[in-house]
Amino acid sequence: MQVSLSARNKLIADLRRQGITDERVLEIMQKLPRHEFVDESWRAEAYKNKPLPIGQSQTISQPYIVALMTQALLEGDRPRKRVLEIGTGSGYQTAVLAELGISVFSVERLKALSEVARERLRALGYRNVHFGYNDGNAGWASHGPYDGILVTAAAASVPQPLLDQLDKHGRLVIPVGPPQNQVLRVIDRGARSFDTRELATVSFVPLLEGRA
Ligand code: SAH
Repeated sequence: MQVSLSARNKLIADLRRQGITDERVLEIMQKLPRHEFVDESWRAEAYKNKPLPIGQSQTISQPYIVALMTQALLEGDRPRKRVLEIGTGSGYQTAVLAELGISVFSVERLKALSEVARERLRALGYRNVHFGYNDGNAGWASHGPYDGILVTAAAASVPQPLLDQLDKHGRLVIPVGPPQNQVLRVIDRGARSFDTRELATVSFVPLLEGRA
């Protein structure tokens, strides 16, 4: 579809302008059908660089943020083969990780969203994704440790189980802070300690407790 193709090209050009340089990420986001991850009524907006509602008061993240987090996860020489994602939502970020050949373990606390995402990714043909319906504050210990953990909801503070489930040299990418004042943190597990840097100010829905 011509309209969709030019909208996608424009989105990728936007991401480049905003500083996304990882060609693997750009290529995947160019071809991934984001319109399949939102309701029919939002499809016309699907290739704009903005978050969109996905029901249950949640949003599919802005493409720039998905690209930024994925790029931050991949940066450097360490392979990221097993990745835990907290906050499946629409499954869009999950699909980006799966397209990279990563084994993805994705946890969502809202049953309705988890089920829709699971069905969607199955229909799209992904086999390397495992879905958990749970409170992601606890991580997913039975499948850990992970080379990478990506959290797509903002935590008040970094949950200890996520740090515990990072493999040696594993990396956690997580937004931290109250609603109006969140920063995206990149935390690397070193031999003896954790090394933290801050990447950007961001605006995510909150990481909540329990499941529903
Ligand atoms: N990556 C998703 C973003 C969805 S928004 C996408 O691109 O579509 C954040 C998601 O995190 C929401 O679906 C929300 O329900 C979920 N979430 C919030 N707190 C959570 C928790 N404690 N455990 C698991 N998921 C959580």
